[in-house]
Amino acid sequence: MTGCVYLVGSGPGNPELLTVKARRLIEESDVVLHDTLPGPEILDSIPETKREDVGKRAGGEWTPQEYTNRRLVELAEEGKTVVRLKGGDPFVFGRGGEEAEHLAEHGIDVEYVPGVTSAIAGPGVAGIPVTHRDHASSVSFVTGHEDPTKDESAIDWAALAATGGTIVVLMGVGKLPMYTDELVSAGMAPETPVALVERATWPNQRVALGTLGTIVDVRDERGIEPPAVTVIGDVAATRAEVAEFLRNDAESEETET
Ligand code: SAH
Repeated sequence: MTGCVYLVGSGPGNPELLTVKARRLIEESDVVLHDTLPGPEILDSIPETKREDVGKRAGGEWTPQEYTNRRLVELAEEGKTVVRLKGGDPFVFGRGGEEAEHLAEHGIDVEYVPGVTSAIAGPGVAGIPVTHRDHASSVSFVTGHEDPTKDESAIDWAALAATGGTIVVLMGVGKLPMYTDELVSAGMAPETPVALVERATWPNQRVALGTLGTIVDVRDERGIEPPAVTVIGDVAATRAEVAEFLRNDAESEETET
């Protein structure tokens, strides 16, 4: 009997934000294939005997996607119940779509189990609603790290600048200077509020605030590193208004520039 693969979202990292279904499937599974994004608290709660790390290998190299695909098929063909655990939601910049297609090509049953995405919850736990009746009636989710083999950027930053809505960039710590420049060149005010939310919902969550003009310096001064989400737009100023009453990040450090 061929097993089944569950593509499961872990949420942003706090174990209480795992869904009830994700928790049950992790418990019932034979193997959990994961990378580091679910975060230490969730990963440490899974018995080591059934964990397989397909994230960064010793030496800093990423496990090739082909290996992960092959391993998923192999385990399912052995009749195992497999949880492919991904940070946030499996279908938001997580290659979940590619893995589902690969499994389907090999005749293996797949079930998608949604997770709380960092694209919405990351800003949220910092006190920033991605939409707000007074500030933003649309939101765009963008990757800051495109396939380096692509010649041209698939992201039209000028068009995004023109929407007037919130822009949330994932995998966008390294390329921050590039896209903040592009947005300002496209006519967005350098004073536009920007927030970086690092390790959202992890015990060492940090929030850094700035503007399109200052956020690169803020990033460097604070040493903000991935995983972090960048929130661009007037909603990012909401944090300042609610911070005093915000219970999500009692522990988190903050700087404003
Ligand atoms: N599927 C994931 C995103 C995978 S891409 C999701 O839905 O959240 C990886 C990027 O997600 C990171 O570079 C970062 O931008 C973001 N990310 C994931 N978890 C995060 C967290 N706890 N805090 C801040 N950003 C996070």
